[in-house]
Amino acid sequence: MEIVIIGGIAAGMSAAAKAKRMNKAANVTVIEKENYVSFGACGLPYYLGGQFEDENEMFARTPEQIKKAGIHLLLGCQASKIDFSSKQVHVRELETKEEKVIPYDKLMLATGAKPIIPRIDGANAGNVYTITRLDRVRELKERLTDYRKIVVVGGGFIGIEVADRLASLGTDVRIIEAKPAIMSQTFDPEFSEKLKEAMEKEGIHIHLEEHVDNFETSEEEVVSVQTNKGNYLADAVILAVGFRPNTELVSNDIETLENGAIRIDPFGRTSQKDVFAAGDCASIPHRLLGDHYLPLATGANKMGRIVGINLVAAETEMEKYVGTLGSSAIKAGAYEAASTGLTERMAEQYGFHCKTTCIEVANHSNYYTVQEKIMIKLVYDAKSFVLYGAQLFGKNETVLRATGLAAAIHGKLTTKELGFVDFAYAPPFSSTWEAINVAANTAK
Ligand SMILES: Cc1cc2nc3c(=O)[nH]c(=O)nc-3n(C[C@H](O)[C@H](O)[C@H](O)COP(=O)(O)OP(=O)(O)OC[C@H]3O[C@@H](n4cnc5c(N)ncnc54)[C@H](O)[C@@H]3O)c2cc1C
Repeated sequence: MEIVIIGGIAAGMSAAAKAKRMNKAANVTVIEKENYVSFGACGLPYYLGGQFEDENEMFARTPEQIKKAGIHLLLGCQASKIDFSSKQVHVRELETKEEKVIPYDKLMLATGAKPIIPRIDGANAGNVYTITRLDRVRELKERLTDYRKIVVVGGGFIGIEVADRLASLGTDVRIIEAKPAIMSQTFDPEFSEKLKEAMEKEGIHIHLEEHVDNFETSEEEVVSVQTNKGNYLADAVILAVGFRPNTELVSNDIETLENGAIRIDPFGRTSQKDVFAAGDCASIPHRLLGDHYLPLATGANKMGRIVGINLVAAETEMEKYVGTLGSSAIKAGAYEAASTGLTERMAEQYGFHCKTTCIEVANHSNYYTVQEKIMIKLVYDAKSFVLYGAQLFGKNETVLRATGLAAAIHGKLTTKELGFVDFAYAPPFSSTWEAINVAANTAK
């Protein structure tokens, strides 16, 4: 059986490894236009911030390890066309320009997403960066001693992570966010406000409801950022305004969501026969919302593994993905926050009839140093009290509590059941009534 996978990072390599483990006789070929595979872009903000210096730490596996596992790698090769009727992928070797055609029995698309570059004058200047590629981030890291003032455009996950790390190095950082709150896709306003305060405590300037009109350049480098409200000097600019699924290769031949993401079913199948997809190029089944676009490594890895199983399984033995909750976490200065399932805003948007409770509760026993407050919000069905979503904000591993809450939402627990779940207790970690129990018991 010929299995061809386009894209060799989280989704593609998860699928390749699983398919090969399940069926040793299958020929698995991964086409990747870069000269590496299994790169963890999630590490880039922390590499930039000096949490670690060895770039190799960001590669889960080397090409040699992959080849040793019996997977055929075509590195530096771009899939340029797919002929779905004859089941062939046209591939161009980028250095030699040599073209070849590879037949497949089963194909997987794992081409990821591209950062959005706003159409603003100066956006292509040499000192405007996105945090997606190691080579550019390495360059930025090397120039950080010259870049004293950095403007980050976009107050989503990547903008906040990068601003947080740069501020920890003493850089003067300014975030420009067009919406009225940072991280507004993931958190309700009261949590966005807490995150903003946490960032401001680190000296980060946050400008809300402000959009960039123009990057002023001198000698092909941005020198200042002009917004609708002000002009800010900048030694460098970081663009973090979102991602677009990288699906030009197939967009005319395959069913997609409105944003161009390839629509897949819970088995990872696309609208084309024998063609699967996963990761940032595709939709993902959400447990509460159906087909959704959530470009996260967690989903890419899990859906990639499901596709790996189904690439080699008989139709009747295929496995279904259980569905994502879009669980995510962020660190902001001394604080951290997590969100899982629906926020109140999302619940309203999708027509759920919900109630919420939001409390501040101590993380552990008062006599154990240092007691801190955790803010917990629960979103639950107004009638059945089944939990739909949770958000947390606090210090000292607050985020790890989201794990219990994600499991509760996944298992469709009611707030009443959650209020009595037997969480572990000892004074350094929690209280006899764990913070999650306490929050759940305030649901009315
Ligand atoms: C800075 C940063 C921080 C992040 N932090 C987190 C985090 O904390 N938590 C989290 O869950 N997620 C995080 N993510 C998101 C996560 O990295 C992505 O969801 C994940 O990498 C998606 O994997 P993928 O395999 O779908 O796509 P990608 O990683 O984008 O890989 C796609 C690959 O396909 C290749 N390709 C594309 N087209 C072709 C073609 N025509 N021919 C050959 N090859 C092709 C590309 O070269 C690329 O290597 C972060 C992302 C970034 C950028």
